Amino acid sequence: MTEHAAQSDGAPRIVALPGDGIGPEIVAAARELLDAIGSYEFEEHPIGGASIDALGTPLSDEVLAACAAADAVLLGAVGGPKWDSTDPAAPRPEQGLLGLRKGLGLYANLRPVRPLPALIDSSPLRPERIRGTDLLVVRELTGGIYFGHKERRGDVARDECVYSVDEIERIARIAFEAARRRAGEGGGGRVTSVDKANVLETSRLWRETVTGLAGDYDDVELDHLLVDNAAMQLVSDPSRFDVIVTENMFGDILSDESAMLTGSLGMLPSASLGDGGPGVFEPVHGSAPDIAGEGVANPLATFLSVAMLLRDGLGDAEAAERVEAAVEGALADGLRTADLHSGSAGQRRVGTTEMTAAVIAAL
Ligand code: NAD
Repeated sequence: MTEHAAQSDGAPRIVALPGDGIGPEIVAAARELLDAIGSYEFEEHPIGGASIDALGTPLSDEVLAACAAADAVLLGAVGGPKWDSTDPAAPRPEQGLLGLRKGLGLYANLRPVRPLPALIDSSPLRPERIRGTDLLVVRELTGGIYFGHKERRGDVARDECVYSVDEIERIARIAFEAARRRAGEGGGGRVTSVDKANVLETSRLWRETVTGLAGDYDDVELDHLLVDNAAMQLVSDPSRFDVIVTENMFGDILSDESAMLTGSLGMLPSASLGDGGPGVFEPVHGSAPDIAGEGVANPLATFLSVAMLLRDGLGDAEAAERVEAAVEGALADGLRTADLHSGSAGQRRVGTTEMTAAVIAAL
């Protein structure tokens, strides 16, 4: 995994992009958490709807340049009804995210899925089925059918799916290296490559290329699964997986499917990484306009994204582990934001501020 070396001898520089809806609330909480962990230099800039309002564009060149010069980027979420429009010419908040990924060359999206012991009952699956699940979905983010040539002629439409050996190799290396690192931390040391090689030529190239690369990673086990089988096994036997690597569209679908294993959108972090430059770390959930400004947003997905920022962005695994343990500690003490609160005995319903204070106290 490529961690972005600090560019000066000073404190690591983090650009915070709060965005819209609950974004500013959860990013402010994350800044408090980071201030309690160490010394970081922050710069804050608008993105998405907030940037459309302030600057007329969802991502300005200046903000992109500030992100490119940082050591890591922490993003809240973008979007909301205020900027929904049927006018194709109107700027949309999501264009800010796409512009950021493209501008920083972020081709790998990482989503860890690890149901926390205190929340095992929140999963829609039976506890015995998800117990022991600890997996990482590595999704290719800038190639495949989402980016291929698109065409509509009369009654016929076409979307082209293209992958090159280089694109497959660089994402596969991220997956092999993650499996190697996780093995060092007690993980399975296994990569499952997911494709549709019985039907698609891009999948046959994918499988061939990933297999060819496995020789460089003798310590990591590799297996291949067809995407339909992978989708089934993710719900029937999720603990069999360690690192899953797959192409853009399959990864889009499988990462949302695996997200449901934890039972709550408010708990899922993600990282988007490229080569050499800063990564973008953000919760998987959106801007939750329905609860924005009420002080009830769950900040834990953002805190777990901060842990990824520390580990994968700044190379500080020890600080990352402290954050993860503190999140587990607050949950084990029974604290629950509204989205996690089931009313069971021993639970206490709290808002964003109280949850943040509890996690900081547990550090
Ligand atoms: P959402 O994730 O914002 O919300 C879905 C539901 O989950 C809502 O009921 C919300 O209140 C709840 N929720 C989400 N995060 C929560 C948290 N941290 N704490 C407590 N509850 C939480 O998805 P949506 O409603 O489909 O989309 C709302 C807006 O967010 C849209 O404009 C959408 O385009 C945008 N969006 C942005 C991103 C992103 O920035 N990466 C991702 C998804 C959606």
